[in-house]
Amino acid sequence: MSTGKQVLVVGAGTMGADLAFDLSAHGHSVILKDIHEDALVRSKKRMGELLRLVLLMDRARFGGAKLDAIMSRIRFTTSYEGLDDVHFVVENVVEDLAVKREVFAELGRYCGEDTVFGVNTSCVSITTIGSFLPRPDRAIGMHFLNPVPLKRLVEVIVGHHTSVETIDRAKALLDSLGKEAVVVQDSPGFVTNRILMLTINEAAFVVHDRIAEPAQVDRIFTEGFSHKMGPLATGDLIGLDTILKSLIVLYDSFKDPKFRPCPLLVRMVDAGLLGRKSGKGFFDYGKVP
Ligand code: NAD
Repeated sequence: MSTGKQVLVVGAGTMGADLAFDLSAHGHSVILKDIHEDALVRSKKRMGELLRLVLLMDRARFGGAKLDAIMSRIRFTTSYEGLDDVHFVVENVVEDLAVKREVFAELGRYCGEDTVFGVNTSCVSITTIGSFLPRPDRAIGMHFLNPVPLKRLVEVIVGHHTSVETIDRAKALLDSLGKEAVVVQDSPGFVTNRILMLTINEAAFVVHDRIAEPAQVDRIFTEGFSHKMGPLATGDLIGLDTILKSLIVLYDSFKDPKFRPCPLLVRMVDAGLLGRKSGKGFFDYGKVP
């Protein structure tokens, strides 16, 4: 599907790179923007890995995908120049309100009145993000799941001012990717992460308190409850730094001690054990993927 217009993906990390791939594989023309040149270099390398992954896991949808064609529809950049044709932005920068505030203030200056701003966040309030934009009705939460090309469900979050037109345009974009929206109301962590972050944090506490080893914790969930993945492997996949930042946002938002981050999680993040993206977290992944 090509609209002739462009989608701007801001942040080329775990989520942004995968989203740019998915958009391009479905015919969209994409601009992938990061502040770090090395993040863009890594994201280019990631495209080949993703193609291999989707061909293995979902040949029905991605069977015809070709790397050259996917790469040719993505412009990798560190600059905000040339955004005239952008009709939709999906922001994927780090889970830090101060950073997101700066990014949205800048986007509000560079993008046209009619642009929709999708916010890919684990916990940050969409109403708060809307307040950074000239038109708060154009802000909408689009909580993609990881890995983006393989996950069909997206949690869509409606902020206080989000308009019906914005919701419809977000749904149309997701539809073009073969994805479905579950539309929920704005609240820190929404549905997914209010529940998931507590679970991962509590699993970390179980390891911290020496009640069980990580493999035992996860085995109870995979074999006992038939979950596809245990909570600690899920934390490693998401990134333990992102988990920690999300818990801090939830803790600050609800002022409820149940969201206090586990000290083991804090120590692991300080030590650079971030999960899959660093090669080691609760489990060992050998070389950095
Ligand atoms: P990440 O740390 O892998 O990537 C973030 C990227 O943002 C980095 O490449 C960084 O260089 C870039 N960045 C930082 N400041 C920037 C700026 N001012 N302008 C442009 N780029 C900038 O993070 P991630 O895991 O991809 O998460 C991105 C967002 O998506 C977060 O808000 C996170 O909570 C949310 N999210 C993550 C997951 C997950 O599984 N990782 C799932 C759903 C939602």
